[in-house]
Amino acid sequence: MITAVGALEAPFTGWENLNPHRVARLARLGIRRVEDLLFHLPLRYEDWSTILPLEHARPGQSALVAGVVELVEVVGGRRRQLLCRISDGTGRLTLQFFHFYSNQRKRLQAGVRLLCYGEVRSGPAGLQMVHPQWRVLATDRSGSSEKGFKPVYPSTEGLDQAFLRRLIHRALGEAMAGRMGDELLPRRLREELGLPKLVDALRLLHAPTSAEAASELMARRHPAVRRIILEELLAHRLSLLRLRGRRQLAKPAPTLQGTGALLEAWFARLPFRLTLAQRRVMREVAKDMGQARPMLRLVQGDVGCGKTVIAALAALTTVEAGWQVAFMAPTELLAEQHYRTFQRWLAPLGVETAWLTGRLTPSGRRDHIKRLASGEIRVVMGTHALFQEQVVFNRLGLAIVDEQHRFGVHQRLALKNKSGMEEVQPHQLIMTATPIPRTLAMTAFADLDVSVIDELPPGRKPITTVAISDARRGQVIERIRHACAEGRQAYWVCTRVEESEACQTEAAEATAQRLRESLPELRVGLVHGRMKGVEKETVMAAFEAGELQLLVATTVIEVGVDVPNASLMVIENAERFGLAQLHQLRGRIGRGAAASSCVLMYHGPLSQAAQARLAILRYTQDGFRIAQRDLELRGPGELLGTRQTGELHYRVADLRRDTDLLPQVRRWAAILLRGCPDRVDALITRWIGEAERYARV
Ligand code: ADP
Ligand code: MG
Repeated sequence: MITAVGALEAPFTGWENLNPHRVARLARLGIRRVEDLLFHLPLRYEDWSTILPLEHARPGQSALVAGVVELVEVVGGRRRQLLCRISDGTGRLTLQFFHFYSNQRKRLQAGVRLLCYGEVRSGPAGLQMVHPQWRVLATDRSGSSEKGFKPVYPSTEGLDQAFLRRLIHRALGEAMAGRMGDELLPRRLREELGLPKLVDALRLLHAPTSAEAASELMARRHPAVRRIILEELLAHRLSLLRLRGRRQLAKPAPTLQGTGALLEAWFARLPFRLTLAQRRVMREVAKDMGQARPMLRLVQGDVGCGKTVIAALAALTTVEAGWQVAFMAPTELLAEQHYRTFQRWLAPLGVETAWLTGRLTPSGRRDHIKRLASGEIRVVMGTHALFQEQVVFNRLGLAIVDEQHRFGVHQRLALKNKSGMEEVQPHQLIMTATPIPRTLAMTAFADLDVSVIDELPPGRKPITTVAISDARRGQVIERIRHACAEGRQAYWVCTRVEESEACQTEAAEATAQRLRESLPELRVGLVHGRMKGVEKETVMAAFEAGELQLLVATTVIEVGVDVPNASLMVIENAERFGLAQLHQLRGRIGRGAAASSCVLMYHGPLSQAAQARLAILRYTQDGFRIAQRDLELRGPGELLGTRQTGELHYRVADLRRDTDLLPQVRRWAAILLRGCPDRVDALITRWIGEAERYARV
């Protein structure tokens, strides 16, 4: 690998003579090419346009002041400091310097006129400024020779503002001379939204001319900055769309048209009827699979809406057509649960299903791999273990990925070469755990088609949700006693955020112990992430069979677990969780005939904001609304899970703030893709980089 510095130096050579350290530091700010300088936008602006009379200066305010030096002294003590008092006739101000050079000191002479910019503070001797920016003014000039607003850039250690300003100023000059910063937005789009040209926008952004413009720019509301945001959003969407296009063109998929024989037999045995939404999504999936263009479809829907049924339908269709299915889950626990569900559904139809788990014996594993390669196993469940090199399919026609937000794009694609057939790639069906607000789905999953199951199976009882302080733990325990005495089952979720899994485990063990003592008549089980697979399964199976009444768990049960008789859930430290995650946890109950309740136990006192957050869960059970609120409160990274955040890293755009631009982004991405491939390339290069991160996967 080339060293970071070496690799980065090249883009600036011949343009600016920068030493490797500076190049590396610029790279830390995301500035890797000269053009990146243009898009390194100011955080705020210093107003150098108006001099503030000292009598109006107030502590806490950043201001430009001018005055004549009255007194200069270096005071000793442990830390030497230079004090310099200035006066403008209306008031006095002391400048304080802890670091200074002797030549600086020489320039600060009594009688000299200074222009200073800094934060006004109140000190022992009245108003002061610590380390202000300052310049000596010609004595005969009364006004500021500096004009307008100075940008303050996001920076990093070792890069000062003056350096960044100089570099960016130079880049801006080149852009204005037409040597870089090409206009990439079509004129029609700019006119439609009233957005300025790129060079005009950049000039204003780096040097606004009025206080109003500066404040609108800082708030990211000004058309000049909105056009930059639009460009970035557009570039991201284009790169995902292009990726999708490439994947679909790379190789065809098998056309999977079932005979209907297995499906009919399965439907006949299914104890419920599909909801209308399930039927609609089923049609969408079947249509995709019947085509040679590889399906890339995301199925999203609230917890408990019945996504597994869709997976089964797609799997059966694939098997009918004579192909194999790989079904991936984010955890062993969930993979196993799907395995058991599919065993129950498919074994009676004579479809061979297997579970490729990390805990198979070596010979068991070899056997599975052999039977997969021979095509004997038709449907295989597993975690990422399925991606491993040795696993080769006979005829893989469909890959199903459950609870997608836990897999990154990279994993999404790793299966594509696993079909066992050189000339085809499998269809992909992806299911999310978290309902994703439409706007976010459009951006984060632009490379996928989306189906939404927007209806829950009938007969679901609403879950009553309450927030209770952990000071009332005793009452909560009584509730569990009561519910279990009536034959119901309960979860107790112990959560420690941001601590190691070891700490979580410890906390869960301690909680289980205490609950066993408080509830001696109940059979209490414990499941956590550090348990061995077998142990975990034994506990889960016992809970599912009703042998355990209370299950103490860490968030391993967050996704997918389905035990309809469990109708009470207690979540500890609920205030520390994201809404979407709480909703997901809560989705483990409310699946059976009994009325369910969820106790959000918090460690008080709660801030108003935290109260308001938990209240949202009390008022609504609509996962899409909850996800929307979570997006607004915590941003897309939290909502989609950490692995996805890298892919949503914007330089300027913010999905919470800029959602209103997304419809335009969507529309214009399609137009550009059809009509202007060159611009598409240029936009992707500008915002995402030459390598186009995704191209590698
Ligand atoms: P999720 O969408 O969260 O993965 P599941 O697929 O686990 O939900 O389904 C939740 C529960 O609802 C399961 O017990 C499943 O058998 C049941 N279910 C699914 N579809 C229906 C339906 N149409 N009518 C009744 N119950 C259904
Ligand atoms: Mg599920």
